[in-house]
Amino acid sequence: MRTHKSTGLDAGTAAGSAKPAALELRDVHMVYRGAVPVHSLRGVNLTLARGESAAVVGPSGSGKSTLLHLAAGLDRPTGGQVRIAGASLAGLSDAALSGLRARHVGVVFQQFFLMERLTAVENVAAGLLYRGTRSSIRITAAHQALKTVGLAHRASHRAAELSGGERQRVAIARALVGRPTLILADEPTGNLDSANGARVMELLHRLHEAGAALLVITHDRDIAAAMPRRVEVRDGLIISDSRAAIARNTGEAANTQNTQDTVNAENTGRHQ
Ligand code: ADP
Ligand code: MG
Repeated sequence: MRTHKSTGLDAGTAAGSAKPAALELRDVHMVYRGAVPVHSLRGVNLTLARGESAAVVGPSGSGKSTLLHLAAGLDRPTGGQVRIAGASLAGLSDAALSGLRARHVGVVFQQFFLMERLTAVENVAAGLLYRGTRSSIRITAAHQALKTVGLAHRASHRAAELSGGERQRVAIARALVGRPTLILADEPTGNLDSANGARVMELLHRLHEAGAALLVITHDRDIAAAMPRRVEVRDGLIISDSRAAIARNTGEAANTQNTQDTVNAENTGRHQ
């Protein structure tokens, strides 16, 4: 299969490493067609290494959610290249794209997007539907994921019966149950009070520490400040990227590990 990690797809691959970047956007454009076409992204370049984390900031309407949709493989760009875990979306059928998403991507939205009439554990198990996993295994994994987010005791409650903070933790469990390469979150704390927001961010950071790359869109200055890398979007373009300032050489991917080591060393205190 084209999406297999060992296919040698080289985009974003560090020298000597077989693993491509978790996410790579090259000159990505997105035009929403309609009576008045909207050029939502106008040439975006972004690489997120395996296990790297970054915040995406920028004013409303600047293209952040569009970027996340493309990074999740929920949409295809109208120009340029999107690669998820080394696989270019351009060459994939819709079915293969669903498979790629199921294997590599977990998404968390501001509005949670749970299936209201299903229980928490059923919602989480749905995160494995497109992986072809057997039902009994899906349910076992879903219970485990709910335990991870501290909601084992809510497993058989319907989503409609849960609080906002609990819903977002169920959504995180659904995102993590497939052990994705890449976790994408669009304003994950936007509908939560500060205590629940902090808990959600702590869970996302924990996932990141377990090895997933993490991209979080946020309006929250404190959340953005706590991330090792900040990418600023305006009018469909990235106008600043704090990693570009750190990585001095053009051998960007090769520098990633060093950058990440520095970041990890800086952050060691924070997560303990
Ligand atoms: P942000 O998340 O930064 O607020 P968005 O990516 O949602 O920005 O939107 C960027 C631009 O694209 C806006 O002008 C928005 O109106 C437009 N847009 C977003 N989604 C669609 C869509 N599905 N159809 C048409 N226009 C869209
Ligand atoms: Mg948005």
